[in-house]
Amino acid sequence: MTASDQKRERFAAASNEDVLETLHSRVEGLSSAEATARLTQYGPNRITRAKQQSQLKIFLKNFISLMAILLWVSGLIAMLTGTPELGIAIWLVNIINGCFSFWQEFQAKKATDSLMAMLPTYTQVYRDGQLQQVDATQIVPGDVFELQAGNAIPVDARLLEATSVQVDQSALTGESVPESKFVKYDPGEGEFAESNLVYAGTSIGAGTAKAVAIATGMNTEFGQIASLTQQQTKSASPLQRELNRLTKQISLIAIGIGLAFFIAAIFFVHYPAAKAFIFALGMIVAFIPEGLLPTVTLSLAQGVQRMAKKHALVKDLNSVETLGETTVICSDKTGTLTQNQMTVNHIWTRDKTFTISGEGYVANGKVKKDGQVITYRDDSDLNKLITVAALNNDTTVEQDEAGTPKILGTPTEAALVIVAQKAGFDVAAAVAAAPRLKEFPFDSERKRMSTVHQHDAHTLSICAKGSLSDTLSQCTTIADDGKIRPLTDDDRRAIDAANRHYAVQGLRSLAVAYREIPAAADQAAQVDALTIETAEQDLTFLGLTIMADPPRPEIYDAIEKCHHANIKIIMVTGDSTLTAKSIAVKIGLTSDKARVVTGTELDAMSEADLQEALRGEIIFARVAPEQKYKIVSTLQKNGEIVASTGDGVNDAPALKKADIGVAMGVTGTDVAKDAADMILTDDNFASIVSAIEEGRTVYANIQKFLTYILTSNMPEAFPSILFLFSRGLIPLPMTVMQILTVDLGTDMLPALGLGAEKAEPGIMHQPPRKRTAHLMNKHVLWTAFAWYGLIASLISTGAYFFVNVQNGWPSVPLAASGTVYARATTLVLGAIVFSQIANALNCRTKTVSVMRFGIFSNHRIWFGILFEIALFAFLAYTPGVQALFNTTAITAADWLFLFIIPIPIFLIEELRKYLVRRMAKTIN
Ligand code: ADP
Ligand code: MG
Repeated sequence: MTASDQKRERFAAASNEDVLETLHSRVEGLSSAEATARLTQYGPNRITRAKQQSQLKIFLKNFISLMAILLWVSGLIAMLTGTPELGIAIWLVNIINGCFSFWQEFQAKKATDSLMAMLPTYTQVYRDGQLQQVDATQIVPGDVFELQAGNAIPVDARLLEATSVQVDQSALTGESVPESKFVKYDPGEGEFAESNLVYAGTSIGAGTAKAVAIATGMNTEFGQIASLTQQQTKSASPLQRELNRLTKQISLIAIGIGLAFFIAAIFFVHYPAAKAFIFALGMIVAFIPEGLLPTVTLSLAQGVQRMAKKHALVKDLNSVETLGETTVICSDKTGTLTQNQMTVNHIWTRDKTFTISGEGYVANGKVKKDGQVITYRDDSDLNKLITVAALNNDTTVEQDEAGTPKILGTPTEAALVIVAQKAGFDVAAAVAAAPRLKEFPFDSERKRMSTVHQHDAHTLSICAKGSLSDTLSQCTTIADDGKIRPLTDDDRRAIDAANRHYAVQGLRSLAVAYREIPAAADQAAQVDALTIETAEQDLTFLGLTIMADPPRPEIYDAIEKCHHANIKIIMVTGDSTLTAKSIAVKIGLTSDKARVVTGTELDAMSEADLQEALRGEIIFARVAPEQKYKIVSTLQKNGEIVASTGDGVNDAPALKKADIGVAMGVTGTDVAKDAADMILTDDNFASIVSAIEEGRTVYANIQKFLTYILTSNMPEAFPSILFLFSRGLIPLPMTVMQILTVDLGTDMLPALGLGAEKAEPGIMHQPPRKRTAHLMNKHVLWTAFAWYGLIASLISTGAYFFVNVQNGWPSVPLAASGTVYARATTLVLGAIVFSQIANALNCRTKTVSVMRFGIFSNHRIWFGILFEIALFAFLAYTPGVQALFNTTAITAADWLFLFIIPIPIFLIEELRKYLVRRMAKTIN
C-alpha cells in the first residue's frame, strides 16, 4: 500500500467531522483569506502533463525529412566534387527552410494551445459561508463544494452529502459503467472503488453531492498518473494523411523524373556524373512540395483562431476539415435556435386564463384585466399554482446593486420566479414556510420534476411541474374554481385545446400539479420511502404556464445560408410537437409540410423507415437526448456528415457519435463539453454556420496555395527540358540554385498569404464537399500545370531568348557563360518570380473577379510579393551572392520587362473568370 493509498483510506474511513477537522475546514467551507493562503501553499489546481516532445526534437525533425536529406547529400556531393560554394549554398537553403517549417509549426501550436484556456471550468464552492462560482483552478484542499449531474469533478474529494450519485470514472479506470457513490464508507473492490471518495478527472453523471477537497492539482490521483504518462498523441487528420500520401507520391515521381534527367544529362549532354546529379537535383527539388505540410497546418490553425473569434472553439485541427464537409446539422431548439429568454405571458387554469402584460397582467398581488382588478390571492387556483411553481424551483433571481435581476439557475425556472415576483408574491418567505424535504430532479427522459415539502405539522406537499403530457398523465384530479374534483375527459379536452392554442404560436407550456399527503408518525421514514413513482402520482392538475422564448435574431440569415449551402437542419427538441413545428416554420427551418416525429414514434421506427424519413423534411419533438444517438447514427448510415448539438450528460453519446459534436459553452455541462469536438461560447446556432463557412474557406485556401506552389514547377522544369532535348545546344536557362530560390524562398510567403485568405463570396452557395473529394483534384492540376504553368513557362523561356536576341542571337550563339549568360538566367528567375506575383493574385479566387474581391484586401499577399521582389533584387545585386546563384545586375529595360509580366497574366485570368461566370449564369 502506497502512502497515497493510506491517506486515501484514512479520509474514506473517517467520519465527516474528522475529515473536516483534519483538513482544518468546516461544513460552511473556508473563508476567502484561508483559501488565498492555501492557494499560495498548494498552488493552483492544475494538471501539468509530462512534456510530450522536447522542442529540440521537434526542431530537428524538420531537418531529416526526405527532401532535407536529399539536400544534405547533394550539398555534400557538390562539396566533394569541386563546387564547395554550391554545396554550402544548398546547405544554407536547407537550414533556412527547416527553420521556416519549425516556425510555422510553432505558430500553429501557439494558435491552438491558447484556445482551451478560453474555456474555464467553474465549480460551486462555499467561501465565506456562501455558495460561489469559483474557477476550478482556484480550489484548495479543505474547500467545500457542490456537485451536480454533468459536472467535471475538479479535485479528489470526500463526499459529505450525496443524493443518488453516479460517477463516470472511465478516465481513471477505463470502466465505462458508472459507479454509485454515497457517504457511508465501503472500501469496495479494486482501485478508486471507495464509496465516498470522488476523483479529479472523472465526472458526475447523475445526482447531487456536497464534498470537501482532499487533494488538488498534481497531488490528485489523476495528476499522479498524468505526471507519468505522456500526452496522447493525436492521430493525423484525414487531410494530413492525404497530404502525407500526396507528398510521398509526388516525391517518388520527382525522384523518377530526377533519375530520367540524370541519365539524359549523362547520355545526351555528356555531363560527368556529379554534375548530372546536381542538375537532376534541381528537378527533384522543383517537384517535391516541401513546404506543404507546415503551411497546411498553419492554415488550419489560423482557421481555428478565426473560428474562435466567431464563438466556435474547435478542439483539434481535424474538425476544421470535417466542418467543411458537414451535410446535416441536428440542432436543439431551446437556447440554440431560440434565445433561452423565457417570459411567462399566460397562465391557464381550468377556471380562468390570466394574461401577463398586454391586456391583463399580474402585478403586486393583483391580476389586472379589462379595468377590473382581481387580487390573485382571491383566486386560489392561481395562488396555488404560483406557490407550487415557486417551491418546485431551483433557480433564484436576485437584484444586483444596479437593480438588474441576476439569475442563478435555468431560464425556464427563472421565468416562474419572475412571474411570482410580478404578482407581489414573496418567494423567499414561501420557500422558508415550506422547507424542502426531498427532491426528484428534472430529467429529460421523464420531462418533469417534483419536490416534497413540509406543508404544516400534519401535512406534506408534493409539488410537480413538467411537460404537459408527462405531468397530466400523473394527475387524477383537477383544481377548478377553488375546488378539487376528479379529472374528466372534458377537462382533458379543455387542457389540450388550451395547450394547442398557445403551442401553434410557438409558445412553450409547462404543467403544474401538486398533492397533499398526511404526515406519518415517523415522518423521516415516510419521506425516505418516497420514490418518484409513489410521489409523482395521484396529483391535482393546477394549470399551465405559457412561456415565450423568441428566436435568436441571427438565426434567420444562418438558416438561409444553410439552405443555399445544401446543408440540412434537423430540429431535435424535448419540447412539444406543435411548439417545435411552429418555431421551425417561423424561422424558416422547414415548410409546414415537414413531418414531426416524436420520441415514442422514433423508438418504434425501423431503421429503414427512419433512413427514408431522414431524407425528407423532418423535425423531432418530445425526444430524450439519448435518442439523438439513433438519429445521428442513422443519418451517418445515409452517408451524411453530421454535426449535432447538445448540452447535458445524456447528450454525450450523440456528441461523440456525431462527426462534429457541438457543446454549448454557456449552458452546457462539463461532460457534454468533454464529449464534443467544438464548443460554442455563445450557444448560438449561427456560430455553427460561421464555423462551417470557415471550414470550407480553409479547405479552399489550401487548394489555392497548392495551385500556386505547383504552378512554379512548370517554368522551372521547362528550361531543363529545352536543355536536354537540344542536347545541350541551348545552355541551361536556370541553375539549380535558382530553382531552390523559387521553391524554398520566393514562393513561401505569398503561399502563406493565400492560406489566410478570406472566404470567397459564394462559398456558401455550393453543396458540401464530398468526403471522397481529393485535395489535389483535376481542377487543381490543370490550372497549375496546363494553364498558369504553361503561361509562366512561355514567359520565362521568352525572357531567356529576350536577352540573347539583344546580344545578337541567332548570329551570335546562345551564351553558356559570362555576363550575358548570367543576365539571361537572372532574367529567367525574375520572369518566374514576376509570373508568380500574378499567380498569387489569380489564385485568390476561383471565379470571382479579384478586382471586386478587393485587390489590396490581403496584406499578407502583398507583403509576400514585396519580399519576393526584394529577395530577387538581393540575389541580383549582392556581389558575393551573385557568384553562388549565377546572377548579375540587370538593366532598366529588363526591370521594365519584368514589371510588365504580371499584367497580361492577371488580365487573361480575369477574362477567364469572367467567361466562367457568364457561362454559369446562362446555364442557370
Ligand atoms: P428543449 O429541447 O426545448 O431544450 P428540454 O429537454 O429542456 O427541451 O425540456 C423538455 C420539456 O421538459 C420542456 O418542454 C418542458 O415541458 C419540460 N421542462 C423543461 N425544464 C423543466 C424544469 N426545470 N422543470 C420541469 N419541467 C421542465
Ligand atoms: Mg434542453
